[in-house]
Amino acid sequence: MTYTVRKFDAVVVGAGGAGLRAALQLSESGLKTAVLTKVFPTRSHTVAAQGGVAASLGNSEEDNWHWHMYDTIKGGDWMCDQDSVEFMCRNANAAVVELEHYGMPFDRIDNGKIYQRPFGGHMSNFGEKPVRRSCAAADRTGHAMLHALYQRNVKVNTQFFVEWQALDLIRDTDGEVLGVVAMDMETSEVVAFHAKATIFATGGAGRVYYSSTNAFINTGDGLGMAARAGIPLEDMEFWQFHPTGVAGAGVLITEGVRGEGGILRNADGERFMERYAPNAKDLASRDVVSRSMLTEINEGRGAGPYKDYVYLDLTHLDPQVILKRLPSIHEIGIQFAGVDCLKEYLPVVPTAHYQMGGIPTNRYGQVVVPQGNDLSVPVPGFYAAGECACASVHGANRLGTNSLLDLLVFGKSSGEAAVASIRENVKAHKPLPVDVIEKSLARLDRLNTQKGGANVHETRLLMQRTLQKHAGVFRFSNLLKEGVTKILEVAETVAHTEIQDKSKVFNTARIEALELDNLIEVAKATMISAEARKESRGAHMRDDAEDSPEHPNGRNDEEWLKHTLWHREGNRLEYKPVQMKPLSVDSIELKKRTY
Ligand SMILES: Cc1cc2nc3c(=O)[nH]c(=O)nc-3n(C[C@H](O)[C@H](O)[C@H](O)COP(=O)(O)OP(=O)(O)OC[C@H]3O[C@@H](n4cnc5c(N)ncnc54)[C@H](O)[C@@H]3O)c2cc1C
Repeated sequence: MTYTVRKFDAVVVGAGGAGLRAALQLSESGLKTAVLTKVFPTRSHTVAAQGGVAASLGNSEEDNWHWHMYDTIKGGDWMCDQDSVEFMCRNANAAVVELEHYGMPFDRIDNGKIYQRPFGGHMSNFGEKPVRRSCAAADRTGHAMLHALYQRNVKVNTQFFVEWQALDLIRDTDGEVLGVVAMDMETSEVVAFHAKATIFATGGAGRVYYSSTNAFINTGDGLGMAARAGIPLEDMEFWQFHPTGVAGAGVLITEGVRGEGGILRNADGERFMERYAPNAKDLASRDVVSRSMLTEINEGRGAGPYKDYVYLDLTHLDPQVILKRLPSIHEIGIQFAGVDCLKEYLPVVPTAHYQMGGIPTNRYGQVVVPQGNDLSVPVPGFYAAGECACASVHGANRLGTNSLLDLLVFGKSSGEAAVASIRENVKAHKPLPVDVIEKSLARLDRLNTQKGGANVHETRLLMQRTLQKHAGVFRFSNLLKEGVTKILEVAETVAHTEIQDKSKVFNTARIEALELDNLIEVAKATMISAEARKESRGAHMRDDAEDSPEHPNGRNDEEWLKHTLWHREGNRLEYKPVQMKPLSVDSIELKKRTY
């Protein structure tokens, strides 16, 4: 197989919110920047974000970044690096105002300021009562955000490579990252993108689960590429299940619905969240609400013929509020559940939604790896931002609307760090390691010549079912153990997948097989990290680690207040301390998490 080389100052992989924000920083500073994306930029999964972006603007009532920081750390069950959280929350207002100046059409309140709605876990005065912090453009916030950022990039001549699939990271023997190998999906042509800085913004990997709110393109490509290049993956045991996916379809109903006053009810019509979270009720954080819903279902109070979902009730809300603030939800109810939410209850169930873990980074978006005694040494030339990265602001459970904020803040900081590094350190392109590129070509070649191999679709289903059963909302020690054995077997099969169609033009079979190579790395990291963590924390809730006086909610800070690092080679696990020291304020002290 052959390939050509193209040179850029910087290559960004991914054109969702994080990739576009990072690219803007690079292009605006005059660097020659390529952005690779599997789909047209404005079709990235960010487009589906409904509820809003968090910032303590305080437009409707008093708010400040310190309260936001507290909520984020509590929401994350203290797994968050507090320096990164302070950085994000302090930069939130500027990030949102900047977006407004880019032309983002936020909704407005009467005095002309940006409209803000309450969201789960966002409270005033260190956890007192819900506060309006989520800045929204109806229930199409991500859509509006992507368009604003894309237009801005067009203005500054960012060069887009649309329908290109990055295959592998180019990392030389010194550990430096020099770009990516990528394939043009239209022609199957392979190009080595040679760069002085490479930023991954490849988004989530929700498709590793059977039932997911994520787009089909969310296959963890960045994580797979990083893992194959010897970069460990951090905190992959923590997956968020969104409480309200449409039962059966998985399509998301934003938490903004509960922010506007929607209520969860069991089959008896009872508002059951009052029992589980007397203070925050339906606006407790997502892990708490998801577990409460499943407990209702498991104890026989689920609705429907199989008693396998609960209801989301909006019927008491003013229809004008729904049609103005949540128009897509009204549509989704009709399209995916056959229910008009103005008049009837929506059937909902927790659905895999967001990965808290990812490629380890610091608050500058620099990818960091263990080296000797130092567990966080930056990898030269390599950055990551957005859902694929773990700057460790979401800890063990992310608060709604904090992801869009993460994209803006760390998209920008990673771009800034890359610009500074190129300006100061990297005068010329370092020579490409040809053997690394050939290894990537060999992966393609294997797929083209494999005979008698496994079917991609069936293998993917097996992987998805394994994760759904063995690493779901509730985790059982015996199922976790079995899950590890099973997923390693599935991984063997993935190494021998076969595609029937070998054609070159828009060969979606090949694209899906390559995506499965990445998903399986995410699946292994998840299963193995989850089995090993012998406590309950945030979204990771084990049957053998229950609430006790020494271990509130099953959390064991003496032994497990540490980040997991999963290494692909040998499935080795390593741990690193959680950064409990913020930048300028006192540490948010550990305590039992209640809502
Ligand atoms: C339905 C839904 C609703 C949500 N609502 C909210 C919300 O209201 N508020 C909030 O804060 N968060 C929300 N989230 C979470 C948030 O939207 C995501 O975490 C975030 O948008 C991810 O952005 P990103 O830029 O990291 O990646 P994405 O937007 O997923 O973009 C990934 C990009 O990477 C590209 N890519 C991937 N692999 C490759 C490859 N191999 N080669 C080339 N390109 C590649 C893709 O083409 C795409 O351009 C929601 C998520 C979902 C699924």
